[in-house]
Amino acid sequence: MNTESLRKVLDLEKQREYADSSVFGGLDKFLHNWSVQAAGSIVSTVLLKRFHRLFNSSYTSMSREQRRQWISDVLSFLDDMENKDSAKVSSAVDQVQPSVKKKPPVKVKKPAISADAQSLDSPVTVVKGISTALSGRFGKLGVKTVRDLLYFFPHRHLDYSKLKFISQLTEGEEQTIVANVWQAQETRPGGRRSTEAIVGDETGNIRVLWFNQPYLAKKLTTNNRIMLSGRVSLFKGRHMFLSPEWEIMEGQDLVHTARLVPVYPLTQGLRPRQVRRVMKEFIDRWASQVTDFLPTELRKRLGLLELPVAISQAHYPENEDTKDKARVRLAFDELFLLQLGVMSKKRQWQESRPGTPFDAKKTVLKQFLGSLPFKLTSAQDKVLGEIFNDLGQSRPMCRLLQGEVGSGKTVVATAALLVAAANGYQGAFMAPTEILAEQHFATVCQMLSKLGHEEGEGYLRSYSGFLERPLKVALLMGDIKQSGKRKIQKQIQEGDIDIVIGTHAIVQKGVDFNKLGLAVVDEQHRFGVEQRSALREKGFNPHMLVMTATPIPRTLALTLYGDLDLSVINELPPGRQTVKTKWLKPNQRESAYAFVRKQVAEGRQAFILCPLIEESEAIVAQAAVVEYERLSQEVFLDLRVGLLHGRLASLEKDTVMASFRSGKLDILVSTPVIEVGIDIPNATVMLIESADRFGLSQLHQFRGRVGRGREQSYCMLLAENPSEVGRERLDIIENVQDGFKLAEEDLKMRGPGEFFGTRQSGLPDLRMAKISDVALLELARSEAIKLFQVDPGLERAEQRLLAQELARVWTDAGEWS
Ligand code: ADP
Ligand code: MG
Repeated sequence: MNTESLRKVLDLEKQREYADSSVFGGLDKFLHNWSVQAAGSIVSTVLLKRFHRLFNSSYTSMSREQRRQWISDVLSFLDDMENKDSAKVSSAVDQVQPSVKKKPPVKVKKPAISADAQSLDSPVTVVKGISTALSGRFGKLGVKTVRDLLYFFPHRHLDYSKLKFISQLTEGEEQTIVANVWQAQETRPGGRRSTEAIVGDETGNIRVLWFNQPYLAKKLTTNNRIMLSGRVSLFKGRHMFLSPEWEIMEGQDLVHTARLVPVYPLTQGLRPRQVRRVMKEFIDRWASQVTDFLPTELRKRLGLLELPVAISQAHYPENEDTKDKARVRLAFDELFLLQLGVMSKKRQWQESRPGTPFDAKKTVLKQFLGSLPFKLTSAQDKVLGEIFNDLGQSRPMCRLLQGEVGSGKTVVATAALLVAAANGYQGAFMAPTEILAEQHFATVCQMLSKLGHEEGEGYLRSYSGFLERPLKVALLMGDIKQSGKRKIQKQIQEGDIDIVIGTHAIVQKGVDFNKLGLAVVDEQHRFGVEQRSALREKGFNPHMLVMTATPIPRTLALTLYGDLDLSVINELPPGRQTVKTKWLKPNQRESAYAFVRKQVAEGRQAFILCPLIEESEAIVAQAAVVEYERLSQEVFLDLRVGLLHGRLASLEKDTVMASFRSGKLDILVSTPVIEVGIDIPNATVMLIESADRFGLSQLHQFRGRVGRGREQSYCMLLAENPSEVGRERLDIIENVQDGFKLAEEDLKMRGPGEFFGTRQSGLPDLRMAKISDVALLELARSEAIKLFQVDPGLERAEQRLLAQELARVWTDAGEWS
């Protein structure tokens, strides 16, 4: 029997002078829940009688004096009950094990409502109302433990507390009505199967339209009582609900929950009402028992809610205000822990082992820059300065280099790799795909061939004339033939190769560097923290340069990648053009093809990007094959059409890319493998199928594949049936060229979790924190820095709980060792 929680609450109530303020929503509810749970475990009839007498009264309706008396009665009742309990238990133990001392004492199994720190890790089945079957369904949503369930927050809340009559509805706002369905039928506005209904209450009628949900017409029958919640718009001078949330009302429980009602994520077999019911009981019982890990001083100074309150208010808020406060507290936690985590990591990494300071090798560097066919932009110059400053320190560099597609990051990386080699160290250059790795290899080799005399071919080249010894560059990928690979691996191990360019293959087993001094990682959002660590392990604490073409707003970059310093190339080389972007309606497909044909006739080339139908590479490849056949055999019969997808063998990919590059193909039909980095100046058209399925940053990347030469380039977007969000994205990409703005929009629309794939990247999940919370991001960051300055190891007593939480969060995220 858990008397602990009740005692805590009653003690608090005493302290607060019986104001009925110790539990959110009043003590009665808590008492009721507690007593329901307790009743079953009281054996003694005498106690049971006392129990019923005590717990049949309403605390809320008592006077202050009555409350005082009642609490003291309950406390003495608890004392008696516990004495009885333990007497009973110990005698039982005595009977079972008269004198066998070796065995450990029988543990009295704690009932389900005990919620000490440890039991938060219990499986959800300890929660009342969650059966094994139900726990399986929660499991599908990633909810396995009691703690997960406490943090299983609703998407949003429906405000049932302010029901409106139809006559009171106003445009724009989110509003809720309860109405009768008069009629519901399928309609086809703009050719899309949809449902239209007329509903009414005693004050009037209103039209409701659900786009793309024809099945609703069958669900809604005349005289159903229905609850609608959503925005009201004006259509031909009359109010109308467009695709509102809906719920058919059986019985009256919805109306009676006159409050903010949570909308939980669901999965097959979880019904909204059931989840709400389970969660309500659960939260009422457990939330109050969570211990707050934030140091009290910090929490008070920032005016944050206590954790138990924040959790319960995030689920079943009293009102909008506490709901917001709860979110702020929980979002702060996420950002604060994230920041502390990345900062600890950086400290750990930079201070555990010294790095290798490099000499900038001014002569080689000067020679290299002089050999380029262009002058560095001032942004490139500045960044190069920052990098060389880092490389000169004995603390290893950890720098994020951010720059638009085509801003010239590769040149900068090559300069750094060259300097590493000139210092007698090896450099690694890691790309996310084979195609990109090959392209980097080609680019680097091309640059070096201007600098010195080139020898060798294929995967291994050597350049002489500028270092005391020849500089050797190799390409290493999973696909390279075993024998060749082994030879390269051996040479890497012996220190015979200076620069290794490749894919993940570089960090895999069997690759040991002799003296890895610098690791460059391209397109980092594909890689993540873990691969970064793997690379670090490969060397003597190498300097690390991470490059990304995804412009991340500065604060966010600092927060999510607090383990990296930030450099930005914020200008493009001179003479870059804007790519004319047009979103075409489905019936303009033919004219899109005609346009491609016209450009080809003028000697240009085109990409046709195939839809992203499924996550699976196999299915995407299959779709590309089908599209390729259609295009090459029906639409562009007379043109030279090639096909590229991730399932092709390396050699085939090479051949296709080479023919496109050399102009032997007019059109390249491709899956999104061409997303990053591909550089074909003669390609002027990018036609993207099902463009609504892609994120903004991705679309921007695709668009960046063209516009790399002198000719005006075009990006055409096709979308059969875009959702509202899809349309919004297409509208934005059509009108915005600035990658930074797009990334910000993208973040707003998708949230950082999805944007960065925090799950894969080894960062803890962000659920409550939003990207629009710049102020909160900054607050969390500055507080973390402050704390770190006085107690970097979080060793002080007042930080004990925080340190534990930090360790827990980062361990759960899969890294932190
Ligand atoms: P990123 O890796 O940032 O996408 P790249 O390094 O691949 O960009 O450069 C894109 C193109 O621009 C390449 O063809 C490169 O040779 C060229 N380039 C890079 N820097 C300059 C510069 N300062 N002036 C003119 N062209 C440049
Ligand atoms: Mg690039």
